[in-house]
Amino acid sequence: MVRRKKKAKNFPRVVSFSLTARRDKGQSDYLAMNVIYNARIQQAFVRSILFRSCGKCKGRLVYVSKNRNDQTASFYCEACQQFVQSIKASYKLQFIAFNPQQQRFENYVAYEDALQPILGRTAQELEEFLKQNTNVLDFIERQLLQLNCHLILRVARSNRDTAKGVEAIVPVVDQNEWVPIVQKFIEYKQQTTLKLDKVLQKELSSLSLHLLERLNVESSMEP
Ligand SMILES: [Zn+2]
Repeated sequence: MVRRKKKAKNFPRVVSFSLTARRDKGQSDYLAMNVIYNARIQQAFVRSILFRSCGKCKGRLVYVSKNRNDQTASFYCEACQQFVQSIKASYKLQFIAFNPQQQRFENYVAYEDALQPILGRTAQELEEFLKQNTNVLDFIERQLLQLNCHLILRVARSNRDTAKGVEAIVPVVDQNEWVPIVQKFIEYKQQTTLKLDKVLQKELSSLSLHLLERLNVESSMEP
């Protein structure tokens, strides 16, 4: 028990969210799980990171029917076997990473618990954020590509997917320096806006100088 605690301390803070979530569900902690050390993400299908799920069972909503009268959509949940009113956004990210232990590329899939800590937003929050910041998905993709990370795998269960379920993605960086990706995006955006402002100011001042010079020349040319 003591040894476990000591070990857990060495794990970066980014996994603590997943760990707490697991403990809340009464599951064992990740120390019993499989870890792929120093994996490198080669491809991440960020375009489809968000999907609509049932607010009740969190299952994927596949069937949509448009109501002819008011054009609103109804979603059918196969698990609950009914049309559901409560709908929420959820994360599901499929990605390919290089597994250095096996020396091969493998398919992985990550959900809410694994993505929220590294993105710094819940799926619901990202969906909102996306409305004003459509290019955030490109930014997330760029940040994930070639990311060196430890992948903590979910306990294998019989599933139809060939992809391995990921419990946590732990970036191999100094944990004090790790900034959640959406936060990084906000900072990046602020910086580029500042830079643009400066460039614009410079352009404007040189333009006005140029205009002044021309005016002077023209006025001196007048008879
Ligand atoms: Zn459901």
